[in-house]
Amino acid sequence: MNFEVNRRDFQCRLLCGLTAAAAGTVLTPWSAAQAAETPAGPVLKVVATFSVLADIAREVGGPAVEVTALVGPNADAHVFEPTPSDVRRVAHADLVITNGLRFEGWIDRLIAASGYRGPIVVASRGIATRQLSGGADPHAWQSLANGQRYADNIRAALVAALAGKSPARVAEVEARAAAYQQRLAALERDTRACIDALPAERRRVITSHDAFGYFSAAYGVTFIAPRGWTTGSEPSAEAVARIVRQARESKASALLVENISDPRLIERIAREAGLKVGGELYSDALSPPGTEADTYVRMFEHNVRTLVEAMSVGVVGKASEAGDKPR
Ligand SMILES: [Zn+2]
Repeated sequence: MNFEVNRRDFQCRLLCGLTAAAAGTVLTPWSAAQAAETPAGPVLKVVATFSVLADIAREVGGPAVEVTALVGPNADAHVFEPTPSDVRRVAHADLVITNGLRFEGWIDRLIAASGYRGPIVVASRGIATRQLSGGADPHAWQSLANGQRYADNIRAALVAALAGKSPARVAEVEARAAAYQQRLAALERDTRACIDALPAERRRVITSHDAFGYFSAAYGVTFIAPRGWTTGSEPSAEAVARIVRQARESKASALLVENISDPRLIERIAREAGLKVGGELYSDALSPPGTEADTYVRMFEHNVRTLVEAMSVGVVGKASEAGDKPR
């Protein structure tokens, strides 16, 4: 492998923060004149099951919606237990947004307990699901093409709900949705360019639970995880030993922890395999407001940047200090 060539040719706008999506500017053709004609303040109460869906609903809905997430930043939806205040929030909602694909095993009971009878949008509706032995993999938001489908399903649900309450806000939501789709499409192009620039044999990493199957299929990175796609059970000693063996045989470029999982498992594998932990990925939840991965777009940028930096040790930048030998 010629690292000099790789280093010179390596182009990753995400590493420099030069992306169109990062600008965060909503280029809306919706005019100030239209703004003056529409009522101020939110007209729809939206409850989303977890932080990623809540962010997409805020991006698309803008000032027309007031969005809350049941499972908040850095929290694990797989093991979430709704409280009486969650029941009340759902009871007072105008629209409920779920991921579907059995991600929220608690949602049917919660809806029933709340007496909510309004619309429920399943954000993943229409995506090509990834089938595993235990059923469909729910982590579909980890591909931006799926994220675009999520945004469109949410747009359609918001427009339908607003049409009955405040038709004047519909054009605003349509314009915001179109601008958001452009940002996601730009990030998709940047993500592909960054990962395609790495040699295929470097694109293998170890993470805590199998949350990146859609990312893997979309962008060509192999993820090895000691846990299945739910965090509800402890990995077997045998599964841990297998991962350590795979890591030792240098089939992985990096070990990465996840924001929602106990890092001790990955730290143990790193210790036993003699590898370093190469950073933190956001899998099933955003980070708190004002921090590095507090929106879906920023979460995706952070993950791609972290993965590319970890996988490119020995290829770009850190080549001289780390070498390309198994560590
Ligand atoms: Zn998960």
